[in-house]
Amino acid sequence: MTVGEIKRKMPEDLSRCVAFHGHICPGLIYGYRVAREARKLMNLRRSVDEEVVAVCENDSCAVDALQVLLGTVAGKGNLMIKDYGKNAFTVLSRKKRMAYRFSRKTGYNYKGKARSEFEKLDAAAAAGTASDAERKKLKRLKIDDLLSRPFHEIFTTRKVRYVEPRYAPLALSLPCAVCGEMTMATKMLKRGGGRQLCMPCAEKSRKAKLK
Ligand SMILES: [Zn+2]
Ligand SMILES: [Zn+2]
Repeated sequence: MTVGEIKRKMPEDLSRCVAFHGHICPGLIYGYRVAREARKLMNLRRSVDEEVVAVCENDSCAVDALQVLLGTVAGKGNLMIKDYGKNAFTVLSRKKRMAYRFSRKTGYNYKGKARSEFEKLDAAAAAGTASDAERKKLKRLKIDDLLSRPFHEIFTTRKVRYVEPRYAPLALSLPCAVCGEMTMATKMLKRGGGRQLCMPCAEKSRKAKLK
């Protein structure tokens, strides 16, 4: 399948992920598959407030599909990014008091007919010798493969103990004693004379003192 063909046959929910993310890529498909699986397992609806929470152990393209499909978004406090560089995601439902963790334990294992072509392209990409066209082709093969496989061949799913996540803190804002910009009080640093500074100003004054 070419990217054009994938686009034409693309399920409506995947097109929404692509529209939000900007392009289609294997990373986005990881997130798309995880979001759909979590939705199915816990019968989730897109999170209006913070009833669904996602903990992503990477900051890759995948996160965007979770934002679109699960409503676990950066501005609402129900998306946590632990930048471990791991292809792993935990999705929690506050309502059902349930949580699942999805992680990838295997390397890329292409299964399609074009296996030898895939391996050649993959080796060239790893060595940094692949052309633009070859990298595109490799991406297409990966996307196609990730969309056509049963979920359990891609991710290991584990039901994990539900631990109530904190709600996003609502804190009052105060002006920083140096720059005057309104800053969440809980994020400010106290300095001499009861002055409260925002982090960048505190950092600047710390550096100035070291000089
Ligand atoms: Zn991407
Ligand atoms: Zn400041």
